[in-house]
Formats: sequence, structure tokens, C-alpha cells
Amino acid sequence: VTFAEIGLPAAVVTALAKNGITVPSPIQAMAVPDAIAGRNVLGRAQTGSGKTLAFGLPMLARLSQHEDRPAAKRPRALVLVPTRELAIQVVDSLYPYASAVGVNVRAAVGGMPFTKQVEQLRRGVDILVATPGRLGDHLRQGTCILDEVEITALDEADQMADMGFLPEVRSILDATRADGQRLLFSATLDREVQSLVRQFLADHVTHST
Ligand code: AMP
Repeated sequence: VTFAEIGLPAAVVTALAKNGITVPSPIQAMAVPDAIAGRNVLGRAQTGSGKTLAFGLPMLARLSQHEDRPAAKRPRALVLVPTRELAIQVVDSLYPYASAVGVNVRAAVGGMPFTKQVEQLRRGVDILVATPGRLGDHLRQGTCILDEVEITALDEADQMADMGFLPEVRSILDATRADGQRLLFSATLDREVQSLVRQFLADHVTHST
């Protein structure tokens, strides 16, 4: 299968090819079509499997479907990750493909000035990549509103569980659209992750690599 066949916009396929990414990895070949179709997806995949694009590319496919949005945009897609380093990595990985379809992607993580983030959020973000602690702060301060988030990815959910972030993750998910789509990626599926899946990923499909 090719990236074009699994339903990605031509501009994204071209940008992928420019970066030498021409053949979907196994997790991408399995998860991307289901995610583009709007299904909740549980992906059991390690770092290095191509999981970042497995959740990022469907976000681009869905968000680029309607570009007639007002300038001050609330996030329509959200990626939750355990660490700042991973957040920066996710933004950098998605940036070339997001810009190919006019979608902007920004990080909101601890260790960056809060007021500067508030300014960025006010200017408008399509895909927000965040750590649970900092995003929780924004929600409580009212500086980020998630009621337009239609697709949320939880990356390294097992790490977030190990770091004690699941209560915060739950309240963040509760702040997103109730009919929103969820993509959860984890290397392992322990009890805590499974309970998150039961609560937030109704009728999901599971893909393992
Ligand atoms: P990840 O598992 O998301 O951390 O990705 C690991 C690395 O694989 C990243 O450097 C990606 O740029 C690269 N990558 C992701 N998907 C593909 C693909 N389909 N073909 C070649 N490289 C890829």
C-alpha cells in the first residue's frame, strides 16, 4: 500500500516523499486508514515504529478537509505526551507535513514561559502538542479551551501512567468534545492504560506491531 492509497492529501504525500518517506510502516499501514475513517484506534507500538506519523498524518487528513476557518482558532487536534522533549520531537516530526496543508502545530509544555504560550494560543493553533501538567494549568486558567478538539492522540500512554499523569489526562479528555475521536499509542498495556481505553476509546480497533 502507498500513502496516497490510504487516503492522505496529495500535498502531504509529496512532502513525505521529499523527506524520503515513501512506504508506510506496518503500524501506519494499519492505523492510518482506520483513523482517517474516524475510528478510535489503540496502537500497540514502540518508539521507532513510525507511531508519530501514524497518529499525526490522520490529523492532517481530517483537519485539511475544511480550511475555511476564522483566524482566531481554538485547537481542533490535541496530542498528549509524557515529556517536553517528546513534545518538541512530535512538533518537529509533523511540521513539514502540516505546513504542506496549511495546518499549524505548536507545543505547550512546562519549562517555557507561560505568558508566551498564552500569546501563541491566542493567535490560533490547529494541532496542540502538550504535556498534561502544563495543559492542565492552561485549562484551569482559561487560557486554552478544548471544546473544539475533535481528535486526540495519547502518545506513550504507559509512560504517562507511570509518571502519575492519568488523573490529569482524564480531566483533559473530559474537556475535549464528547464525540471526539481518540488514538492511543502505548508500548505496553497495563491495567491503568486499559482502564483509560475502556473509558475513552469506545468501539476501538486495536493494531499491534
Ligand atoms: P517514531 O516511531 O514515530 O518515533 O518514528 C521513528 C523514525 O522513523 C522517525 O525518524 C521518522 O521520521 C521515521 N519514519 C516514520 N515513518 C516512516 C516511514 N514510513 N518510512 C521511513 N521512515 C519513517
